[in-house]
Amino acid sequence: MWRALRLLAVLAVLIWLGLWLADRPGSVTMDWQGYHLDTSFALLLLAVAVIAVIAALIYRLWIVIRGLPARIVRGRHESRRQRGYQALTRGMVAVAAGDADDARRQVKRAEGLLGDPPLTMLLSAQAAQLANDETAAGKFFSEMLEYPETEFLGLRGLLNQAMKRGDWRGALKLARRAYRVRPKSRWVASTLFDMLTRAGHWAEAETTLAESVKHRLVNQADGRGRHAALKFQRSLEARERGQHVEAVRYARQAHDMDPAFTPAAVVEARFLVDSGKRRKAASLIESAWERQPHPDFVDIYLAAKEANGAVQKFEATQSLAKFKPDHPESRIAVAAAALAARLWGEAREYLQPLAASGGSVRACRLMAELEESEHGDPGRGREWLMRASHADPNPAWVCNHCGNAVAEWSVLCGKCGSFDSFAWRVPAHIVSLTGEEAEIPAALPARTNE
Ligand SMILES: [Zn+2]
Repeated sequence: MWRALRLLAVLAVLIWLGLWLADRPGSVTMDWQGYHLDTSFALLLLAVAVIAVIAALIYRLWIVIRGLPARIVRGRHESRRQRGYQALTRGMVAVAAGDADDARRQVKRAEGLLGDPPLTMLLSAQAAQLANDETAAGKFFSEMLEYPETEFLGLRGLLNQAMKRGDWRGALKLARRAYRVRPKSRWVASTLFDMLTRAGHWAEAETTLAESVKHRLVNQADGRGRHAALKFQRSLEARERGQHVEAVRYARQAHDMDPAFTPAAVVEARFLVDSGKRRKAASLIESAWERQPHPDFVDIYLAAKEANGAVQKFEATQSLAKFKPDHPESRIAVAAAALAARLWGEAREYLQPLAASGGSVRACRLMAELEESEHGDPGRGREWLMRASHADPNPAWVCNHCGNAVAEWSVLCGKCGSFDSFAWRVPAHIVSLTGEEAEIPAALPARTNE
């Protein structure tokens, strides 16, 4: 529309100019080197205009011809790049499809066409891994460390290789470097934490954990639970070295972080009793018992209550049991105290419901003791001992990942190496045809017992 209007305007101006010149005729005479020219002014003007247009066209043509070689080169380069990216894409598809030969072929093509090492290195490494050539893959991963844009991917590749080989020292070194490059990567933070706990670098593990909580890679509650486990492990190690003050300090810190963590609560309660704060110790144990009864609390509770005689101990145990009256741990504790106080009726009253439901090893043994002590009947006692061999095992610290059951809590599972995976509960077991017991793993969230 605008173009047509513009054309019309130009035409109008030209016609007007032509008419204007026709109204004002004039002649031009030129004499030059023997040449003689006689013409009208309008014709001369036209000739000059035509010459100007031809000159402009020749100039444009010359510009085009001059830029031609560069354009041809650029076009060829662009086509190489396109073919290079195409090869790269095909290589990625081949890796995803598990076709090692095609992946290697495509990566070679891409390398030749693109000439951009960082771009093709990862694919080269993946193609090598696909062909089970870990050495070549390692070489590519190492080369990737040289370029800032591929450093992290190279570290990740090398770290995975080290972990696969079981080279934990090397893996820790790589994890530390990867963490420096990307501290906010969830994978890196959790791998570094794993490596640190495996190597027993508790202080550094604590720092990493605190940063992970800060970066919201670990939620607050999980962070506190893990932190408490780390502190308590430091307490255990300090105790092993004979540093008792340190050991208590770490255990108390663990208790502050996670009051529901039984091993730390036990140490804290014992510390309170030893420093004369018996009422505080008793109330700590009572709330811990309400949450999760554990046999380690009983003796400390008796000390806190200054219960010395057998009957006094029975009464104190009974008052503790009231905080979780029907829990097997409560019944066992009271029954054992009743037996020690020779209160047969009370012992039977507390044990009977356990025995009726098949009972645990401890309940059956206490029943055997009761039968022998009360009635002096070794036959009935033996019967209960026989039952004990088929009863549910006693509660223990059971690994949530592999089912490994141990008497003492520890931060790492000795069998599968999992961190903070022990929960206080009855170990699952199956009785094989030969009568041997074998544990079966059971997946449960950490520290949810009963
Ligand atoms: Zn385990």
